[in-house]
Amino acid sequence: MTALQIELMNQRNINTPLPDRGMSRQCAFTEVQGVTVCIGPDGGYILPAVRSWDPSLTALQAAVYADVRFQKNKPGGGPYKSGHQLGIVGLDWSCGGPTCECRDETDDQRFRRGVFIGRSSS
Ligand SMILES: [Zn+2]
Repeated sequence: MTALQIELMNQRNINTPLPDRGMSRQCAFTEVQGVTVCIGPDGGYILPAVRSWDPSLTALQAAVYADVRFQKNKPGGGPYKSGHQLGIVGLDWSCGGPTCECRDETDDQRFRRGVFIGRSSS
């Protein structure tokens, strides 16, 4: 585990190690309570499944409660430029959701959806 994963565990009082799900495009994938959190090459937290969060929250605060933020995704509707239908995003930046817009996107489009639209810290 990285120091950043330990920070997430401590802030949320999670007692089991956060899983290492691998690397894709210089981002390290882990999960907080069943929702993907990526740690970017600059050390920032990225929540690819989450559509948006309260701008008063820091990226760390959002990452610590990634599952809570994900539950606030607007159900149904769309099309959405950000976020995913399902909380776990794979190394191909797809959630596999049957009606998620990521189904029909290219690798580059899914990467942009996950990292650059609305939820990346710096
Ligand atoms: Zn998706």
